[in-house]
Amino acid sequence: MAFESLSEKLSAAFKRLRSKGKLTEPDIKAAMREVRMALLEADVNYKVAKEFIARVTERSVGAEVMESLTPAQQVIKIVSEELTALMGSESRGIHINSKPPTVVMMCGLQGSGKTTHSAKIARYFIKQGHRPLLVACDIYRPAAIDQLKVVGEKAGAPVFELGTEQPEVIARRAYAHARDHGNDLVILDTAGRLHVDEELMAELGRIKEAVPVDETLLVIDAMVGQDAVNVAASFNEKVGVDGVVLTKLDGDTRGGAALSVRAVTGKPIKFAGVGEKLDDLEVFHPDRMASRILG
Ligand code: GDP
Repeated sequence: MAFESLSEKLSAAFKRLRSKGKLTEPDIKAAMREVRMALLEADVNYKVAKEFIARVTERSVGAEVMESLTPAQQVIKIVSEELTALMGSESRGIHINSKPPTVVMMCGLQGSGKTTHSAKIARYFIKQGHRPLLVACDIYRPAAIDQLKVVGEKAGAPVFELGTEQPEVIARRAYAHARDHGNDLVILDTAGRLHVDEELMAELGRIKEAVPVDETLLVIDAMVGQDAVNVAASFNEKVGVDGVVLTKLDGDTRGGAALSVRAVTGKPIKFAGVGEKLDDLEVFHPDRMASRILG
């Protein structure tokens, strides 16, 4: 299960804290050292973990005594609030334009879950009464178009493709097609590579010049941990990212990506992928994720 080891270690640290009754500053600092180790072992970015601990320690040491909580409960409450803040505080999803169509560009490395999540997001919006159009902009793998057609059909969304035409041309024609056919949401499934590369970044840039992209969503695989966060930072720098779709949270991810991506890139996690089925998509709620981690 995701975050299992992190949850266990945090709960062990808090158990020791609870056994103390009145807390001294050294008690809090000792507990925070344990929390810091747990975060680092969960593959949280070093700087993110360090700053997190500094904030929690400062607040905990200076915390006013609240009648209703024991000192340990207060520290745990502060950890919970700071974990939530670390992941972005509020839940977002994506904003649908009042003037259709809204254009969403899905990007990310190969295998991160772009195609699957293009269809999941289409399905999510179909359920809310929208009419998405899925667009096959990955022209390098013939199987990619077929895969999008298969998941598109399952999701109940039409798929626009022009074979191996240039991706920006496909995007432009898909946009016109959507306007003509009453599709209020255009979801562009773009090509991925094994690594961040300049050619891919340039291609994504051309797509953004060709159509008015409202949301560039970076799809990242939670299992990849901190590396995924580095990928996110590069995409954000080169293409501009509005939010993250964090996939494979159903696996046994240690949690590093979920906890670091927002702090490192400044971009919120908007959706979480929690399985291979098209309904396995959740709007990301930082507070719920923090509760899940804290058990
Ligand atoms: P793409 O290359 O980025 O388009 O990635 P795909 O959409 O083809 O996904 C790669 C693999 O990951 C496929 O086998 C998907 O079924 C699987 N996958 C995608 N999202 C999830 C998820 O949230 N959970 C799990 N367990 N598997 C996923």
